[in-house]
Amino acid sequence: MPKIPVRVVSWQEIVDWSYGLAERIIDSGYRVDVIIAIARGGLVPSRILADRLGVVDVISLKVEHWVQTASRNPEARIKYPYSVDLSGKNVLIVDDIADTGDSLILAKDYAKRNFNPKEIRTATLQVITQTTKYVPDYYYLEVKDWAWFMYPWNYWEDVINLVKKLKDSGVNIKNLEELKRAYVDSYGSHPPIDLNIIIDEMKRRGEF
Ligand code: ADP
Repeated sequence: MPKIPVRVVSWQEIVDWSYGLAERIIDSGYRVDVIIAIARGGLVPSRILADRLGVVDVISLKVEHWVQTASRNPEARIKYPYSVDLSGKNVLIVDDIADTGDSLILAKDYAKRNFNPKEIRTATLQVITQTTKYVPDYYYLEVKDWAWFMYPWNYWEDVINLVKKLKDSGVNIKNLEELKRAYVDSYGSHPPIDLNIIIDEMKRRGEF
């Protein structure tokens, strides 16, 4: 059975961490003109930061990574490339977490080459110092021991992927009690959505 540390993050934590991150940006004196949200992980933090910082212009870059829940893969690319003129603008690139750092490295390099901004800085809610190749200019929480953070905008996708991993390792997912035990044993936390509801959703999606 897989052993992956999973930590469930609440909506309230996301708001608190985003506000905390905003304070650090404010304290540094950096005046942000445009936020670039890395999709999808940076979308919610970007919107909260925009509100707190008073930023009207929020755009997005879709970084594609062949990442399945709780596994890591450094392959990253811009899925829908485009150009826009951001000359004279102070830009802030935002993501949820720097794990490998690949998404941020890629997005920063892409924005520099294609958007022509005055300055680019980067921000994430969390940074895993053990694994990242790149430390963002601003972050709120430093993670010492690697874990999979189950963000509230990803509950369904993550729990489904984690159940699939159990299935692949031979757990009988039709037996709900066995599934629940295996889930907690493998991931060290309880699923934020009942597993019987998850199974129904997997059936609806044709993934059961
Ligand atoms: P980066 O390290 O720049 O964030 P990754 O390719 O490692 O790039 O991660 C891409 C995305 O995958 C992250 O923005 C996040 O949404 C998700 N992700 C990666 N690692 C984790 C993790 N440990 N916990 C939760 N989500 C993660």
